[in-house]
Amino acid sequence: MPVYEYRCSSCQKKSSFFVKSFNDALTPVCASCGGREMSRVFSSFAYHKSLATVHEESGDPYQPGEDYYKDPRNIGRWTEKKFQDLGMEMPSQVQDMIQAARDGQMPESVKDLQPGVTEV
Ligand SMILES: [Zn+2]
Repeated sequence: MPVYEYRCSSCQKKSSFFVKSFNDALTPVCASCGGREMSRVFSSFAYHKSLATVHEESGDPYQPGEDYYKDPRNIGRWTEKKFQDLGMEMPSQVQDMIQAARDGQMPESVKDLQPGVTEV
């Protein structure tokens, strides 16, 4: 769940707000003084999360939520998990494709990629 931090312009205290999704409208109100003049704080907490945390927050790879693929770091997770479950090493070309997709390139072949059914 995304956490937004805001700083109150009246008392300079920081307040954290949980939002359901990144698209949710949020009206921050200072937890200390009730002020509404809040400025967004880009905390290191929110922006230096580990990849594992990002994965946890975006849900089960088998049942991706609506926002799941909005985070490019989730691209290929299903495939990675599938290989893991099968106890297989992911071929380096697959890793490369996933990495490329996460970097913003989306080859068609990644979408249909299914471990175990690839022709040799
Ligand atoms: Zn305040």
